[in-house]
Amino acid sequence: MTGLVLVLNCGSSSIKYQVVDPVAGEAVVSGLVEQIGEPGGPVPDHAAGLQRIHGDLVDSGVDLAAVRAVGHRVVHGGRRFHAPTLITDAVLAEIERLSDLAPLHNPPNVVGITVARADFPDVPHVAVFDTGFFHGLPEAAATYAIDAGVAAQYGIRRYGFHGTSHEYVSQQTAALLGREPAEVNTIVLHLGNGASASAVRGGVAVETSMGLTPLEGLVMGTRCGDLDPGVLMHLKRTAGMGVAELDELLNRRSGLRGLCGVNDFRELLEQVSTGRPEATLAYGVYVHRLRKYVGAYLAVLGRVDAIAFTAGVGENVAAVREDALSGLDGLGITVDPQRNRSGRGARIISPDGARTAVLVVPTNEELAIARAAWGFV
Ligand code: ADP
Repeated sequence: MTGLVLVLNCGSSSIKYQVVDPVAGEAVVSGLVEQIGEPGGPVPDHAAGLQRIHGDLVDSGVDLAAVRAVGHRVVHGGRRFHAPTLITDAVLAEIERLSDLAPLHNPPNVVGITVARADFPDVPHVAVFDTGFFHGLPEAAATYAIDAGVAAQYGIRRYGFHGTSHEYVSQQTAALLGREPAEVNTIVLHLGNGASASAVRGGVAVETSMGLTPLEGLVMGTRCGDLDPGVLMHLKRTAGMGVAELDELLNRRSGLRGLCGVNDFRELLEQVSTGRPEATLAYGVYVHRLRKYVGAYLAVLGRVDAIAFTAGVGENVAAVREDALSGLDGLGITVDPQRNRSGRGARIISPDGARTAVLVVPTNEELAIARAAWGFV
């Protein structure tokens, strides 16, 4: 049987879409509608955004009748959802209820699902959760050491995000090594605008760097990652900052942008090359945090067969891969400079016979979502 899957990733002001042939494993067309709902802009709301996508698909010659399913990236599945889930009215209501946990992310996902169901009423719509792969984290890894009653009452635990990418990349890593996922222990470093690390033992996630929200862990483009929670109280007491201001500070004005004014890694590298001190420090903080996580996950896993770099920075910035893992030869981790700096796509960049293979593995969340949705056709 052949057919296509429309994959949608709805943000508050954008919809990313891709039409995927899940059997061939290829994207047929992809695109992005931005500035949704911005005053005076051309796209007043998500329904209009989807109409535009509909038009773009027709213009690019996609046979809409061949679209047999729609796959939706949903950020937070909470405790309730982990596996890809056929969307019914009841499921949608539950995803909406989870907005408490992900106020920035789940509401636009719900809007996107609602308009897409109206637009493609005759095919299954499937939710694929960013938290899903981390649903089974060991309790010791998922639990914050705060008052247990408060944590239980407010759903405070570590959920993890980017799960679709971590799962896909860990599986691809095993395939590239010619082994079964069940035999391989992998550290996955997803370094995009958002960034996260995971420790995967035999195909099962046992640790990850993001927590209740996607704010914890690595240094990101605009997010701070790990921070002493005391900083929040300090800023409230001394600077009088409220929740909205803190939210904005830590999510949008921190990370690389907070340190040196730019969040795009290409611009950062350019500034580093001119010797701008703020950029050099930002790069240093970024790489230091990454090394810390690699070290922690070596200890969590005990035996590490592979370290896989993925997403925009992980796939494209050889210097980050080299700097994050330098000096670890004694632990069996070596990056071959020649392999690291040449070649493209999925590849091994450690020397032959190294105890731990280091790899570049391009992520493909859309394909993973499309395949999950195709399971319901
Ligand atoms: P997201 O999906 O989280 O928006 P991506 O995985 O696309 O993010 O990664 C975006 C980041 O990757 C940006 O910081 C961008 O500068 C960086 N990036 C992408 N391509 C390159 C490249 N060729 N060289 C350096 N950085 C790159």
